[in-house]
Amino acid sequence: MGQGCRRKPIMRTKFTGQFTKQIPIPEEAIEAAVAVMRSGQLHRYNSFDGELSEVSSLEQEFADFVGSQFCLAVTSGGYAMRAALWAVGVRAGDAVLTNAFTLAPVPGAIAAAQARSVFVEVTSDLVIDLDDLEAKADQASVLLLSHMRGHICDMDRLMAICTAHDITVIEDCAHTMGATWDGVPSGRHGVIGCYSTQTYKHLNSGEGGFLVTDDADIMAQAVLYSGSYMLYERHGTVPEPEVMERHIYDVPNVSGRLDNLRAAILRPQLRQLPQNCAAWRVLYQKMENAFAGSNSIQLIKRHPKEAFVGSSFQFLLPTWKGTDIQTLLKSCAARGVEIKWFGAERPTGFTSRYGHWHYAPSEPLIQSDRVLTSVLDLRLPLSFDENDCTLIASIIKEEVAIIKKSGAL
Ligand SMILES: *Cc1c(COP(=O)(O)O)cnc(C)c1O
Repeated sequence: MGQGCRRKPIMRTKFTGQFTKQIPIPEEAIEAAVAVMRSGQLHRYNSFDGELSEVSSLEQEFADFVGSQFCLAVTSGGYAMRAALWAVGVRAGDAVLTNAFTLAPVPGAIAAAQARSVFVEVTSDLVIDLDDLEAKADQASVLLLSHMRGHICDMDRLMAICTAHDITVIEDCAHTMGATWDGVPSGRHGVIGCYSTQTYKHLNSGEGGFLVTDDADIMAQAVLYSGSYMLYERHGTVPEPEVMERHIYDVPNVSGRLDNLRAAILRPQLRQLPQNCAAWRVLYQKMENAFAGSNSIQLIKRHPKEAFVGSSFQFLLPTWKGTDIQTLLKSCAARGVEIKWFGAERPTGFTSRYGHWHYAPSEPLIQSDRVLTSVLDLRLPLSFDENDCTLIASIIKEEVAIIKKSGAL
């Protein structure tokens, strides 16, 4: 293709920020990490004279943060979900209900348990479809509920459905750490909450995760599963010895412990989390306001009981053809605006959809297919400010208008 068929170059503003650029690790956290390295005590059980290790202190602090009895720190969010599935009794061949709209570590955790994913449809508000959940409620006794991209469904109704059908709820809070529903922290409605501290989430230790619960038997099994080498009494939050005794012969050691280095950099970040969540919310609001009133772009309705963390922003282009969306993605990318799309043929980067997970086969989900091919997704890292959001939104609006005007739609 020659230069001749390109559009005449018009001066268009470009966005130069990086959508995957997080804020630095706080100095206080860096100092704490250096202190751990100076001590040589990187393993969570390498502590002396009853001192609490960085990992055990972090577990206490995270349990306090969400108001849970117990917290276990592990190597990833995916690992936390895998340990959770084990602890609630999911074994090979069992069915587990889960969201059709989520990321690969969720069906991955179910596959690692040798269990079978039963996908539940997503609504155009990007939450699990509770009617579809109710219709499928007799197919499994566990729901691994993913609060994908921070969208929290009507938890009152979800819990009512699951209670009525005796379904155990595990919450995947990778995108809702710091969020609440009706004042209750996300992860505290189900029997277990799982979180990730992977770089792109709300706390950053490169890799890492938490599992929280109030159930002592579940905690005992999760601790043993994570590879406690029977040193569990050194944990910050640990069930009574007689509860541990009930499980020590039955739980495999599947090592997934967090280390003191990563715990040390997480503790100061946890103290900053509420203020960071407020900052994310400001960015989100800016995006939402910038798109308000657009007749092409459909915004996602948020429930008044949902206090969400705006670390990413989604919108729908409901009537658009896939080829036009691809054109939009390209033209926005050319101006530095990196948009993710759940309608692509192939899984790319972090983005994939249920049809790509051949290890977790599913019937076609007509409603989800419609939503997933029209949803566009942007990260909002805290390295951005409000002016960045204004520029990003104006670039998207301009490019949407150009494609509409070209008569493609
Ligand atoms: C990131 C993520 C997880 C956990 O991911 P890890 O990389 O294993 O920490 C779980 N669910 C969703 C939706 C995620 O985005």
